[in-house]
Amino acid sequence: MSQPKIVVLGAGYAGLKTVKQLQKKNVNAEIILVNKNDYHYESTQLHEVAAGTEPAGKITFKVEDVLDKNKVTFIEDTVTLVKKDEKKVVLAKKGEISYDYLVIALGFESETFGIPGVNEFSKPLVDIKTAESCRAYLDNNLANYAKSKDEADLSIAVCGAGFTSIEYLGEITNRIPKLAEKLNFPKDKIKITCIEAMPTLLPMFSEKLGTYGIDILKKRGVNFIVGTPIKEIKENTVVYEQDGELKELTANTVIWTTGVRGSAVVGKSGFDERRGRVVVQDDLTVADYPEIFMIGDVSAVMDKESNRPFPTTAQIALQQGIYVGNALAAKLSNQSIDAFTYKPLGTVASIGNNVGLGNVMGKEVKGYIGSIMKKNIINKSLVTTGGTKTLLKKGRFDYYH
Ligand SMILES: Cc1cc2nc3c(=O)[nH]c(=O)nc-3n(C[C@H](O)[C@H](O)[C@H](O)COP(=O)(O)OP(=O)(O)OC[C@H]3O[C@@H](n4cnc5c(N)ncnc54)[C@H](O)[C@@H]3O)c2cc1C
Repeated sequence: MSQPKIVVLGAGYAGLKTVKQLQKKNVNAEIILVNKNDYHYESTQLHEVAAGTEPAGKITFKVEDVLDKNKVTFIEDTVTLVKKDEKKVVLAKKGEISYDYLVIALGFESETFGIPGVNEFSKPLVDIKTAESCRAYLDNNLANYAKSKDEADLSIAVCGAGFTSIEYLGEITNRIPKLAEKLNFPKDKIKITCIEAMPTLLPMFSEKLGTYGIDILKKRGVNFIVGTPIKEIKENTVVYEQDGELKELTANTVIWTTGVRGSAVVGKSGFDERRGRVVVQDDLTVADYPEIFMIGDVSAVMDKESNRPFPTTAQIALQQGIYVGNALAAKLSNQSIDAFTYKPLGTVASIGNNVGLGNVMGKEVKGYIGSIMKKNIINKSLVTTGGTKTLLKKGRFDYYH
């Protein structure tokens, strides 16, 4: 009898962890992993590449380096559609592949909320290519000031004040003094503005902790404009609403980090979704499709206490990957498995290289200790996806600078 075929889409935290768990369980199945690049990237560190404080190589590794080639076939291709009723996946280059079990882990994309001009006049931060493009955009504008003497070249607008925006601001405020020397611009003329629709900043933390983080950024020169929805992005201009009036901010660097949505492939494939996310069953499968698992940023796992979905994070994506690896191993040997339960371990945000703040196992952490905690979490997650060898190769033990 031929082996059942498991196809995993996406080699991010969720997809790669699923495959690694299937390898570990030594399941008797043909396993195929599809990813649009030949590398995995640590999405949680994209802000460092975007700000130019780390090169892309520091947060990427080859997918095939962590696969057991005797157990898994890797296909580098882009998924364009899932034909869920035919049990087939359509790939951009290689055409259709069939499956018996499918794991959809295609991750996130930038969310424009339909605001005009976002795609044309601002830079999103969602993968390695966009992060490198953000870096080049910022560096070119800052370098251009020496010739142009146009203060808009030194004006940076960060749209949104969520986790990604705050971590990006932490990195650029660390790097700008060094860039000012290198590119010869007056650092006191730098203008960094962060515009946020919601009235509260860092609402996931206590007010005291959130204020601590925001005050650090303010001291480094960031101006926060809050409770002010962005209405349009025009060339070198952010239009926002304040007290019922439209106002304009001029900036030659406009970074779009207002939020993310799940992969567009989910909607195109006819799944019942909201912003690219599907509310999954207790076993992370899709209603009416017990052979399809949806995990990571394309899934919404309901928190039964709050009756709201858990936030999509790398943390939940990794736990889902382990669960699905185990669930598939159980299915293939006709065993049952308990429902997925998410165990949140805490959240830590970085503010540049030496400051972190957040909650770890019920305790608040901040400052240098917070930064060490953050680096430990990232390194632990790298070991989970890439193994200890990858961690050692990346040499990420820079706790002291
Ligand atoms: C700057 C930043 C900081 C963050 N910080 C944290 C944090 O501190 N803690 C935390 O827990 N979470 C954090 N997150 C959120 C976290 O990164 C995501 O929740 C997580 O990456 C989701 O994992 P995933 O596997 O679903 O998707 P992804 O990591 O996005 O992986 C998806 C994979 O699918 C591939 N892919 C996408 N589309 C296609 C296609 N059509 N065909 C083939 N392949 C495709 C991609 O190339 C990628 O390899 C952060 C996010 C950002 C952007």
